Amino acid sequence: MQRRTKIVATLGPATDDIAVLTEMVRAGLDVARINFSHGAQGEHLRRIELVREAAQRAGKIVGILADLGGPKIRIEGFRDGPIQLAEGAPFALDPRLAPDAGTQGEVGIAYANLHKDVKAGDTLLLADGQIVLDVVAVEGPRVATKVRVGGPLSNRKGLNRQGGGISAPALSDKDHDDIRFAAANGIDYVAVSFARNAGDIREARERLRAVGGAGRIVAKIERHESIQNLPSILDETDVVMVARGDLGVEMGYAEVTGLQKTILHQARNKFRVAITATQMMESMIQNPVPTRAEVSDVANAVMDGTDAVMLSAESAVGRYPVKAVEAMSQVIQGAEKYQLSHSRARHRSEGHFGRNDEAIAMAVMYTANHMRVRAIVALTESGSTPLWMSRIRSDIPIYAFTRHAVTSRRVTLYRGVYPVQYDVTQPGTRQVDASIFARLLELRLVEPGDHVIVTSGPLSGVAGGTNAMQILKVTQG
Ligand code: PGA
Ligand code: MN
Repeated sequence: MQRRTKIVATLGPATDDIAVLTEMVRAGLDVARINFSHGAQGEHLRRIELVREAAQRAGKIVGILADLGGPKIRIEGFRDGPIQLAEGAPFALDPRLAPDAGTQGEVGIAYANLHKDVKAGDTLLLADGQIVLDVVAVEGPRVATKVRVGGPLSNRKGLNRQGGGISAPALSDKDHDDIRFAAANGIDYVAVSFARNAGDIREARERLRAVGGAGRIVAKIERHESIQNLPSILDETDVVMVARGDLGVEMGYAEVTGLQKTILHQARNKFRVAITATQMMESMIQNPVPTRAEVSDVANAVMDGTDAVMLSAESAVGRYPVKAVEAMSQVIQGAEKYQLSHSRARHRSEGHFGRNDEAIAMAVMYTANHMRVRAIVALTESGSTPLWMSRIRSDIPIYAFTRHAVTSRRVTLYRGVYPVQYDVTQPGTRQVDASIFARLLELRLVEPGDHVIVTSGPLSGVAGGTNAMQILKVTQG
């Protein structure tokens, strides 16, 4: 059985060796994530080229996701290196301080409006919640706090307000520039960090289209506001990411598991794609083997119905980037095997189908799951038919046959969907059936005598035109 759940891995210094990256692709990397919070565009460009080279060497199609930095609020730097904050000590955040003027008692902050968003009694969290500050007073632009949970604090650590409410817009000037860069370099997915609402997603999409980008939009769910606005964000976005790092800080970590299940469930119901992210294999930054808790976490995300699981620091700066992908791949397969023998797909039996291609996709999955066909082949322009199909649980592979490189990279993220490059101009004729069989046989995806389901539209070149399904027996030409 093929692995259905996809693997997203973040690139970084640890993956800058072409041999390492090629091994990661061979081990199962489906989508490479470039983190725009760190590094300059020149470095990102080199990594994009490296991914394309590694994909070619491994003979695989790999998608690329650009994760925008977004308005992450960060403290500035300290004059004499990292400080140690003690419980009960006073500590102030002041935008008027120079970027390197931080001391034991105060530090600068790049976000000038913090004092407007917080008030005495609020809780602020630094460094992913490792340090907790209670706001005691707001004195002009200066926010005075008392340390509730202390610890070491170094330059440029992130800051969150518990309960959300920091009103910085989701797209900064730098993000606009990075969107332009993503469009110019044919990036497949653009992730919006700290999205608050559907408007932030719409704005990112409009920006991307305005500069010629065809990429799909990922809404990172990591703010208090994005949980409140989840239904409308799902309506607007193509993909959601359960960004458990910041989400755990803003909502409290005990909320994260329940929220993950809710987000994944709602995403699937709305035909949206989902990525589960952050600390999935955290100990593999140092160790060649995951902890059992990490194994369980990845497996549970698979069982929750995620499309993809993600590696962050494990692959970007870890000691074992290849092993982390291998381990994830194995855990996914273990989880999918178990799930299959313990639950059959339950189809959406209520609701209306809004479009022809959606109706065909549902009919295909219903048929496939009850007939034991060997494979599903969707002749697709934009990838939307295989997307509809992949929302239904099944163990039958969905091959997205497409002549568009963009579409073949896009579907790398969809659970159970595998891209196949295939040029077709006149679907529906017997020659086309024969050429589909030839391609499937050539790739050893089927054997003569197997049954396959093929979906197609009246003419290729029209996205959303799928209106036919055929059940075919594979013959050798
Ligand atoms: P980040 O997003 O790694 O870009 O912060 C993921 C998360 O917050 O979980
Ligand atoms: Mn985040």
